[in-house]
Amino acid sequence: MRLQSVGDRLRRPEYTGENRCLPCTVVNVCLALIAAGVVTVGLGPVGGLLVFTGALSAIYFRGYLVPGTPELTMRYFPPWLLELFGKELELRETLTPVEGVAVRATPEGGRLVGSFAAAWDDRIETMRERGVEDADVATLLGVDEASSVPGDVAYVVDGGLRQWLSESALLADAAAAAILDERGGETWASLGPDERVATLRDLRKLLGYCPLCDGDLVRDKTETVETCCTESERVLMATCSECDVRLIEDLG
Ligand SMILES: [Zn+2]
Repeated sequence: MRLQSVGDRLRRPEYTGENRCLPCTVVNVCLALIAAGVVTVGLGPVGGLLVFTGALSAIYFRGYLVPGTPELTMRYFPPWLLELFGKELELRETLTPVEGVAVRATPEGGRLVGSFAAAWDDRIETMRERGVEDADVATLLGVDEASSVPGDVAYVVDGGLRQWLSESALLADAAAAAILDERGGETWASLGPDERVATLRDLRKLLGYCPLCDGDLVRDKTETVETCCTESERVLMATCSECDVRLIEDLG
């Protein structure tokens, strides 16, 4: 009874139970073994055993032995090692349909696949020169027809209105969709307009420049989402430093 309540008081729910991180635990048990070994050499096996038991219970109740290990493993463990430990590198739900094709998961969040990023750059340049056409928007949404509304970054689709944040945002999305149309396979083809729009919007957050003028982006607002071994930054707003056009706005 008493032990249980002491345990409850010591327990750090953010690092134990469901939130226990296997890489951190393994690292800490290794550290405990090393410490016990050192103590055994100095004070004999009983001392070593005491240290090891104490360390294990600390790991059990608190999730870690050395304060700061979650940050350490996060920083120094390469993605493949984290994956080896079964530490799932997760993408935002909207990005999973394009995983492997356009984006891959890393401890810091989604990153563009190199070949996709290169193709995206090329396509942005081509589309910037000739302008985004109605057919590009139809391809983007996976519909038969889309017709632009003059003077606005909006299109009439199936009797409804689809609007983009800016020309810059539309250019990024239309270019990405054109490549996904070629490379995205069944998964991309099966997505409805709303899902496509959501996926493209999150993909756009990984673009490092303004599609309209190549200018640098000013990340007006970011949010850091941190779990034990992974940290990802969510960009909430981004504006071009050159043309002042907003590329990202995520108020949700
Ligand atoms: Zn710009």
